[in-house]
Amino acid sequence: GTRRRTGLADMASATAAAGAGASPVRLRPFKRVAVVGGTHGNETTGVYALRRFQKHPELLARDGIDVEYCLANPKAVREVRRFVDDDLNRQYSMARLRDDSLESYESVRAKLIEQRFGPKDSDRPHADFLVDMHTTTSRMGITMIFESQGVDPAALYVAKEVRRMLAGRTSAPVFILFADLERDGIPHTPSIARSGVAIEVGPVAQGLLRSDACEWMEQAALAVMDAIARLNTGEATASEAEAVPVFQNSRVKVPCPAGEDGSPLAVFHERLQDGDYRPLRKGDPIFRGLDGEVIEYDGRLGDTVFPVFVNEAAYYLPESGLGFALCHHATLPLPPIVTAEDGAARLSLPVPPADDAEAVAAAIEASDPWEAAEAAAATA
Ligand SMILES: [Zn+2]
Repeated sequence: GTRRRTGLADMASATAAAGAGASPVRLRPFKRVAVVGGTHGNETTGVYALRRFQKHPELLARDGIDVEYCLANPKAVREVRRFVDDDLNRQYSMARLRDDSLESYESVRAKLIEQRFGPKDSDRPHADFLVDMHTTTSRMGITMIFESQGVDPAALYVAKEVRRMLAGRTSAPVFILFADLERDGIPHTPSIARSGVAIEVGPVAQGLLRSDACEWMEQAALAVMDAIARLNTGEATASEAEAVPVFQNSRVKVPCPAGEDGSPLAVFHERLQDGDYRPLRKGDPIFRGLDGEVIEYDGRLGDTVFPVFVNEAAYYLPESGLGFALCHHATLPLPPIVTAEDGAARLSLPVPPADDAEAVAAAIEASDPWEAAEAAAATA
């Protein structure tokens, strides 16, 4: 259509001046990239992508970069289960990695994987960058997740480049989901490398392969490699400082009401179902209970927030963390990046305060990112 829409992209350009004039930051090049699939054994899209990349190494091959592949949880993959004993993607905090008393299958796997790609507590871990491939039953499109103590400019650069490169090319929109966490405590796979991202694609059912989700995963992984190659060749140095809109995961979760045995006593309300990244306001319905009663959002993180992992099937499991998560929205300044052998291993840039939630909500409601992605992909 010709109707002018105001979306989040316009908000970003309006605030881009925030980072203008910033001097470049210096990082060591990213020469060894770990590509991980099957961290969760029933997220078969990532396992399939891994097989395809191993059979066709030209897909991820980039000058000057060694790619190493890892099937993280082979036993769970064989059994098409999320995990055997415990959630592998909750094992990578320093405390758990160094706790010799932990002997579950997944805690042992985590230690082996950290020995291969870490050490996590090193400035020279084996992997410079780690990509972990996941799926979700939530309608999160292609979500680039990065977690760091402060803002990791390398991961932010890669995530925003994936979004830029895939715009108009995939039938799912790309979102960036950031969490500011104390580094040692981060329990997730990418934290063992110098830098990294998790790719989540969805909605897709557990154990299921769908061509659309496979395409989203492959396109995202290829774009990650292009972005890393661009960092290494110094093309990123020419780019101006940018302001990158992201959703910031507060890690505040809202569990579904459950009985003493853990069984759900409510379902996600139809107005919240598939409502990832859409505004959720205090008083909006979130669950419908066994007796038909409607449970509303209580405003615990603010009057207007943005939910993610809405009705993720794994989050009915206490080992994985119950409930959907609430986000703020923030605009992160990204300085130009120079890679050099004497550059820093990793950097931690300050996290700005959250954006005005109502302004973000209005922008999202004016331009649905799924409609925009589907329309662009249909005409491509
Ligand atoms: Zn997963």
